Amino acid sequence: MVYKDLAGKVAVITGGSKGIGNAIAKRLGEEKMKVVINYNSDKAGADHAVQEIVDAGGQGVAIQADVSSEEGVQKLLDAAVENFGDLDLWINNAGMENQHPTHELSLNDWERVINVNMTGTFLGSKAALNYFLDHNKKGNIINMSSVHEQIPWPTFAHYTASKGGIKLFTQTIAMEYAEKGIRVNSIGPGAINTPINAEKFADPEQYKETADMIPMKRIGDPAEVAAAAAWLASDESSYVTGITLFVDGGMTLYPAFQGGKG
Ligand code: NAD
Repeated sequence: MVYKDLAGKVAVITGGSKGIGNAIAKRLGEEKMKVVINYNSDKAGADHAVQEIVDAGGQGVAIQADVSSEEGVQKLLDAAVENFGDLDLWINNAGMENQHPTHELSLNDWERVINVNMTGTFLGSKAALNYFLDHNKKGNIINMSSVHEQIPWPTFAHYTASKGGIKLFTQTIAMEYAEKGIRVNSIGPGAINTPINAEKFADPEQYKETADMIPMKRIGDPAEVAAAAAWLASDESSYVTGITLFVDGGMTLYPAFQGGKG
């Protein structure tokens, strides 16, 4: 346990059955939190995360829900209150991506990515804000953005649109609710080794291609993103709101200039 103020507090994390969400769930367990772990289809992954949290000294419950629907998000809030009696932290982590040249991108693919990544972030934030306001709580919201809220990414226009949207959404609601003591921040991971890109990074050539775009010359570990989430969740970041904390090995630092080129 690093952040003592987190012990016993209640968190919801969306998309917690694998990848970054799973690492954050585990880390919150190590901080002795009570965690609602949302999954979409991977029940086994979510159950495993619950076990890891319990083993680490926290409490957990796995709840199936689609974050792009209001009913799904309400189910997660209800689970927090019914199982753990409160809500202190909501992490909008669930996300998806797929690759299409924009002139071939179907409306269906566009809408699915926007609905999960951006609308899901809105719905989760709205549910949490209402709970915090109703209970006069200085709650905390963390949104999983990406370096692609800043770096354009050809053939991923729907993904970049969703993350760019999350950036200003985060800043806007951070300002809107700052006087209530509610903090809202984003995390912008760079290239992190998770199932979303496991196939790509298993190929040494593709791993090198990506690592070469990162000043630190390596792909990140999900635990390194979880560490940022734990800090943003804790009172140690009590004067921080509306930021994107990039966890990217320097990817957003114009790496083409590395070594004094240009
Ligand atoms: P992942 O594919 O391993 O995990 C994504 C999670 O979201 C899964 O658990 C999935 O089931 C869940 N999810 C998808 N649609 C859902 C829905 N409708 N309802 C509920 N859950 C749903 O990916 P990851 O790499 O762990 O990504 C987590 C977040 O981090 C995403 O928002 C992603 O955009 C962001 N991110 C990842 C990277 C990276 O390199 N891995 C980089 C930048 C940003």
